[in-house]
Amino acid sequence: MPGEKVFDIDEFEKDPSYFYTNAGPMVYTVHEKEPSIVHTCLTELERRGLLKAVITQNIDMLHQKALSKRVIEVHGSPRMHYCLRCAGIRVGYNDAAAAVKAGDMPRCPHCGRALKPAITFYGESLPLEARRDAEGEAQDADLILILGSSLTVMPAAAIPRTTLQRGGKLVIVNDIRTPLDDDATLRLWDLEAVFTGLGELLDSPPGLLPPLDRSMPA
Ligand SMILES: [Zn+2]
Repeated sequence: MPGEKVFDIDEFEKDPSYFYTNAGPMVYTVHEKEPSIVHTCLTELERRGLLKAVITQNIDMLHQKALSKRVIEVHGSPRMHYCLRCAGIRVGYNDAAAAVKAGDMPRCPHCGRALKPAITFYGESLPLEARRDAEGEAQDADLILILGSSLTVMPAAAIPRTTLQRGGKLVIVNDIRTPLDDDATLRLWDLEAVFTGLGELLDSPPGLLPPLDRSMPA
């Protein structure tokens, strides 16, 4: 994956084919991917009323594929495409993916320009509604689970701080250190192991919790 240039809004406006050629094979094949144990456990926790929302920086739509209901995509999503010139143009992921697969780009039915996915590019503001929703959930949360984030990129870095300030708890599951490690009520390191255990627990009748592995990575 080339660096920031691929997701740079100025580059996109100059030459959208650079984005579609370089990021296309990653962004427009997400429908071929399957949700992981992490996605499915979060869906099950939501179904049981234990989880209120998923706030994600991912743009792969796998939480929706796993049937999570409340998914807040703070870096946008390729779910929708719009024209930078014409108002009101909306083209969905499937049509865009078909165009990319055919070696082209999704194009505006009015002006013929390449459409832009509603992913937040460098040089663009984060989607306002998603930021507001994420901030609201962070304020109301009794507990926030941090999964796989280094908590160094905004707004992910700010969201758990809001929860902490409002008296909520923090659980971090990551194999990388974060600036909030010392503030976490529970600090676990192996995401896959934790969620494999959680999956077994959610599948099994009520009983004893499996032991937690709190050891640091080697
Ligand atoms: Zn247009």
